[in-house]
Amino acid sequence: MPVPISQMWTVATYVLGQRLKGRTRYPLVLMLEPLFRCNLACAGCGKIQYPAHILKKHLSVDECVRAVEECGAPMVSIPGGEPLLHPDIGQIVRELVKRRKYVYLCTNALLLKERLDEGVFTPSKYLTFSVHMDGLEENHDFAVCREGTYQKAVTAIRQAVNSGFRVTTNTTLFDGADPNAVRDFFDAMMEIGVEGMMVSPGYAYDKAPDQKSFLKRKTTNELFEMILSNRRDGKRRWRFNQSPLFLEFLMGKREYECTPWGMPTYNLFGWQKPCYLLQEGYADTFAELMRDTEWDSYGRASGNPKCANCMVHSGYEASAVNHTFASFGGLFATVKAMVFNTYANPVARKKLDEEKTRPHGPIAHLVQLGFATDIDAARAMARKGAA
Ligand code: SF4
Repeated sequence: MPVPISQMWTVATYVLGQRLKGRTRYPLVLMLEPLFRCNLACAGCGKIQYPAHILKKHLSVDECVRAVEECGAPMVSIPGGEPLLHPDIGQIVRELVKRRKYVYLCTNALLLKERLDEGVFTPSKYLTFSVHMDGLEENHDFAVCREGTYQKAVTAIRQAVNSGFRVTTNTTLFDGADPNAVRDFFDAMMEIGVEGMMVSPGYAYDKAPDQKSFLKRKTTNELFEMILSNRRDGKRRWRFNQSPLFLEFLMGKREYECTPWGMPTYNLFGWQKPCYLLQEGYADTFAELMRDTEWDSYGRASGNPKCANCMVHSGYEASAVNHTFASFGGLFATVKAMVFNTYANPVARKKLDEEKTRPHGPIAHLVQLGFATDIDAARAMARKGAA
């Protein structure tokens, strides 16, 4: 079982509770960014391009706890920056676990072994290390611009798994990804013993200088159909730590509209409008974020060009989860997707075989999340926040 029953139950009762209260907009996962600094400098990552005085800052334990309580979401994802660089990360996690929040600590794992040896964390069903992995060794080390990173992460993952921690991986795919190599990477992660994997396409940002690097909707569907179909070839028994309906959405089997309020972001500047990807202002409180954001201006149906090709996990996974618990049809579709998860598809099989004859190298285009292209606006925002 990729997600423990207790976690599924918590999410199910939370969603049903919100619906019974008549709420149509409610958060599912808080994206809590306690700092922006990182021990890697991946090409195209906008977070580490903030000015030095912003990179030195971090949210206090109290600020993190207050944001979590204000938001009320049952799950908290802690990305960054690299959260293991936060001096109080152990205490932040302990406080959230005490409040029975399911915490996904997103890390590049470079410091994971050290923190485990120091005894900073205790295994709990509420704590999962979500290790960022961009593929097998060659692709991963190229993507994060440092050799040896893959091996270091794998060593730390093994230690965490053997110590009884929940461990998942999260992977972002860009145009040019080799679908056969991604399937081999999934096999490798299963062999290491991770609980499940998460996968998402990169964000297609309309202002990016090189649009070729992004996965547009049709290309996204084709890539994911090749990767995720025919799962019973040989030894493949993949477990995903995400909604099976979201995976079907990536494969082009169903349509969803974005749910930007499903995964709200809180960081050094406040509550980010409207989503994890776009920075269009900040609210001081979660209530203000929900009340004052022009939600109708976002999502594909809005016609906003920034949203036209977006299919990312932080916008659409909440839509899939809501579908599961919103109707009997959604629940039935989810159970069906969990039981009949082979997705035999001869056409996708043929395309996958054809891909073997094409040249694939490490991913050539690495602009992530759009921030890098919007750095002037980000810097202006940072200056305002620091003032
Ligand atoms: S479609 Fe993407 S960019 Fe637009 S609001 Fe949703 S998550 Fe953000």
